[in-house]
Amino acid sequence: MVKPLIVQKFGGTSVGSIESIQKVAKHIIQAKEAGCHVVVVVSAMAGETNRLQSLADDIDAVPNARELDVLLSAGEQVSMALVAMMLNKLGYSASSLTGGQANIVTNDQYNNASILDIRVERIVNLLSHNHIVIVAGFQGVNKLGDITTLGRGGSDTSAVALAGALNAQECQIYTDVDGVYTSDPRIVHRAQKLAVVDFPSMKVMAQKGAKVLHLPSVCYAHEHKIPLRVLSTFQPGSGTLIKGDKSYQNVTGLAIQKTLTLVTLAPEFCDSVLKQCQLLGVEVWNVIREAEWAGVVIKQESCAKLMLVFSEKIRNTKAVSLLTMVGLQASHFVDAAFDCLSNVNIEICYTFTTVQALMLLLAPCDIEKAANVLHDAFVVFSDSKAQQSIFD
Ligand code: ASP
Ligand code: MG
Repeated sequence: MVKPLIVQKFGGTSVGSIESIQKVAKHIIQAKEAGCHVVVVVSAMAGETNRLQSLADDIDAVPNARELDVLLSAGEQVSMALVAMMLNKLGYSASSLTGGQANIVTNDQYNNASILDIRVERIVNLLSHNHIVIVAGFQGVNKLGDITTLGRGGSDTSAVALAGALNAQECQIYTDVDGVYTSDPRIVHRAQKLAVVDFPSMKVMAQKGAKVLHLPSVCYAHEHKIPLRVLSTFQPGSGTLIKGDKSYQNVTGLAIQKTLTLVTLAPEFCDSVLKQCQLLGVEVWNVIREAEWAGVVIKQESCAKLMLVFSEKIRNTKAVSLLTMVGLQASHFVDAAFDCLSNVNIEICYTFTTVQALMLLLAPCDIEKAANVLHDAFVVFSDSKAQQSIFD
């Protein structure tokens, strides 16, 4: 019988010290001993990519894009060698591969490349010789063989793409939290870990502020039907499984994005501002089109960029926060959310709905209280067993 293959990805804190790398090795060995082929994807040690980026920033506000990728990709190269060394020391054959050595081919977009193809022969050959293969996340090479990186947080995407190319049974994302929660547990007191989340809900959560997974990795896994599991390197448990096309929860969770800016302008300038955002690479979170005014919601840190080129057309800018209720029925709860929040004297600045989501624009000072109130009122939490049985 052919051995099942799993991909395990370890994030920056998981490989942040030699002590943690020992824990990483335990998880890898456990899967290997259970009879699986194991391909491991690693991030740079915690803080390392930021450190490298700041060295580059000290030279140039806009560092040469090709050279920046040569620099940033070095972080993952350190981790992969340390993990492979640890496994070798513990008596397991392990080989590390850079993105290029693993034949991960991307487009030419330095700093934010997309994977085009992975030629897996080398990995498969190593696996067939009983090796554990450790691949550097977040990087590939373009057609010329030059190093590219996949955008911050991109190791998740490397892992999922490898899982797809290798037809893995599951892609496990090991991190410093023990799963996906109904909301950010640092803000929402009764946030609960979800045993299972469907892909559409997870996509909206990742898009609207949940930091646990890199959005492109969720999209890729969904498209290629690769079950994803988020779990902790440091705590035991089966984490959260992300699979399936359909939400069975009325409200799966609440995503919170605290630091946004609402840019208001005359309606006739809305289209040109949106075009400008696209040219500048400024991500637009929401658009408001009213008869008297228009509004564009963007990340606070992108605001300065937009002001530079567009200041005369902008009427006003205001700090706002966005609370997104995610789930099958979320968009039907507009009135109920209004009632709930007005009971605690919180005013909603604006609402938006999509098929799977209700978004509320709020004053930043209200977001934490609003998140707790709405979570308690709407997030139907079924225990993990009940949930599991719906999905299986
Ligand atoms: N090391 C890269 C970063 O910090 C990629 C990753 O960790 O996913 O963004
Ligand atoms: Mg990450």
